[in-house]
Amino acid sequence: MSTTATGFGAEQVDVLLTNARIVTAATVHHGWLRLRQGRVAELGSAAQQPAHPAAATVDVAGRWVAPGLVDIHCHGGAGHDFGEARTQATTAALAPHLGSGTTSTLASLVTASAEDLLHQVRSLAADATAGHVAGIHLEGPYLAEARCGAHDPTQLRDPDPAEFERLRAAADGHLRMITLAPERPGALELVRRAVDAGVTVAVGHTEATYAQTQAALDAGARVATHLFNAMPALHHRTPGPIGALLGDDRVTVELINDQVHVHPASGRIATAAMGPERLALVTDAMAAAGVGDGDYELGGLRVEVREGTARLADGGAVAGSTIVLGEAVRQAVQHLGLDPAAALRAASTIPARAVGLTDRGDLAPGLRADVVILNEDLTVAGQLREGRWTRHLG
Ligand SMILES: [Zn+2]
Repeated sequence: MSTTATGFGAEQVDVLLTNARIVTAATVHHGWLRLRQGRVAELGSAAQQPAHPAAATVDVAGRWVAPGLVDIHCHGGAGHDFGEARTQATTAALAPHLGSGTTSTLASLVTASAEDLLHQVRSLAADATAGHVAGIHLEGPYLAEARCGAHDPTQLRDPDPAEFERLRAAADGHLRMITLAPERPGALELVRRAVDAGVTVAVGHTEATYAQTQAALDAGARVATHLFNAMPALHHRTPGPIGALLGDDRVTVELINDQVHVHPASGRIATAAMGPERLALVTDAMAAAGVGDGDYELGGLRVEVREGTARLADGGAVAGSTIVLGEAVRQAVQHLGLDPAAALRAASTIPARAVGLTDRGDLAPGLRADVVILNEDLTVAGQLREGRWTRHLG
């Protein structure tokens, strides 16, 4: 158990949250939730009594009480990104996310040289052991040049099992996900290798055909990296990766729901096609999240943020978002037509499951006491991480 995790000097509280609308993986309970020793201890309906008294009771006045949000695709914030490979930069980058409902973040790394990636992964593995980040997501380096987006195209390469094993060893059990392009030579073998090692494989930054994408899914890939972005468009005669990913019930589909990366109509069509239980809202946030407009760097490339939209200075490709996950939840209700519970699960339960974080993403006895308390308009009113208030209600 970590006592040094980001932003937490406070003690773990023994608290009963009453008068709550509790969002679990399966349903919405009207009642109370008891947290103790950093874990969910118990929950019950208003008519029931808790088995044990709590040290403190907090009436949440009918607000939503949901699992802390889990962002499985995030590069940074507050002027920093995870590629800086310094704990101070990592905790600074996390701050705007932690303040807005997110209690778990996978640190996403963009494509870099073998040497740089190893250095970054080693540093982030220590940050994961310390409890700052929930693990590492390698976005690259085995991606398609033609769909490189904000990745340095000169560093993209074919899957290399030996390199992957070095990165995995450096991650010390914290490598949770790797995004790759299935059409690259050796990709299917790498999918199998990663899956066997317990690493979730995501398909993205790809030129793959429908059949090549299906082959990757049959080999064990289970996530679509920011659907629609950095892949060929859906065509009725050539459905491509979008058709394969949307059409397969085994796949969890990331969406960057910031109204910049995906038009709301496309987001609604995708959600209708797969159902909300396969949707994972992600930020893909870069350093400008929580800061605003300015000039930044992402994986060695210059990025300009103007009116909240991040684009490469050279070529103008969209280069990550500037949102936090709580904002993606609000936009999912507003623009995708999701009900609040479904939108909250799409930013907690579903992404946590996709990357094997089995100790969070739901509010059930024994799970981490990661809780976000939200007002009717889904703005964050309070937040606990491992049973410590990171934002006190009121
Ligand atoms: Zn990307």
